[in-house]
Amino acid sequence: MYAIKVELKLNNKERTKMAQHAGFSRFIYNYGLSLMRQLDHKKFKGSSSKKIDEIQKTFTNFTKKQPEFAWTKKLSSRVYQTGFRSLKDAYSRWHKGYCKAPQFKRRRNKRSFTIVNSNGKVVLEAGKRIKIPTLGTLMLKQSLPCRHVTQTFTVSETAGRWFVSFSVDAQKIPPLMHEVAEPVGLDLGAKCFATCSDGSKYVAPQPYKKAKTKLGKQQWRNRNKVLGNRKQGIKASNNAKKHYTKLAKTHAHIANIRQDFLHKTTTELAKKYAVIHIEDLNTSGMIANHKLASAISDLGFYEFRRQLGYKQKHYGNKVMLVDRWYPSSKTCHNCGSVQPMPLSERTYKCGECGHTADRDLNAALNLASVSIDKLKSLEP
Ligand SMILES: [Zn+2]
Repeated sequence: MYAIKVELKLNNKERTKMAQHAGFSRFIYNYGLSLMRQLDHKKFKGSSSKKIDEIQKTFTNFTKKQPEFAWTKKLSSRVYQTGFRSLKDAYSRWHKGYCKAPQFKRRRNKRSFTIVNSNGKVVLEAGKRIKIPTLGTLMLKQSLPCRHVTQTFTVSETAGRWFVSFSVDAQKIPPLMHEVAEPVGLDLGAKCFATCSDGSKYVAPQPYKKAKTKLGKQQWRNRNKVLGNRKQGIKASNNAKKHYTKLAKTHAHIANIRQDFLHKTTTELAKKYAVIHIEDLNTSGMIANHKLASAISDLGFYEFRRQLGYKQKHYGNKVMLVDRWYPSSKTCHNCGSVQPMPLSERTYKCGECGHTADRDLNAALNLASVSIDKLKSLEP
């Protein structure tokens, strides 16, 4: 299973409709949560899930029929089913100790709602239209490249733009013939995003760096703006609201560029190379170097790895993780001797055999030819 997320192209009427459904979803969640909190749990025994089922019944048979809740009839009933379900999930995560107790959703939280087609899976045709059960047909900004089969749709808003995401089963694309059959090493770095042992390089796009600088300036100029304070009863000023809306847009813009770059790169790699070796990064190992650590989280190396992982199923290639203690940058690819390599050193000059090579390329070549006992496969 993996998810596809695409942007919707909505008119004003449709936007209002989406916002109403998101509001409905939030209302249901809060309605269920407030009843759960009021419930006398000593008198009323049973699991949270059972109690929420009872609350849902009360809503369906009683509350929904009251005239002041007539508005709910105009909206998709699937939304309230998933609203109660997400409350159940929140309770079960809390009981398992994964997170804090469920909180009320606020108007300013992210707007989203989910629709599950209870009648089974639906087929989405390729193209610019998407038919969402109970919502109708909507337009997409970019067309779907092929047919998909799914059951769950999540509609959400990020910085004024609406998206729909749906999960689809993997293994739709048969294994392809790869251009390169022998293993390649991929060295990930802060300077150059990825250096391949065959010499090709993947550099983060220029607009990304520009947008990051812009964001930094924007944040610095408005460093004293506060979005009100609920506890002290201070309302957010219009200027602060304006700034935070703009900030959210910049963040979304950066995230889009990054996601686009990662998707393009991972797809290209998965199509081209049959076997890819990458370093097995772990957080604790990275802490030693803060500069590299921030570069790594900034560029989304974990997301990169995740995408490479699941795309194996589509493109029939193999991704192998190289033991994280293997000194790929410190080893000479020519003679195998190991020497310290500070991050500032961009060229590898071997003290033993005199071999010189680009630092990243040397590392990538080492990763490509690493012995099999240092490899493990990346689970999709
Ligand atoms: Zn050497």
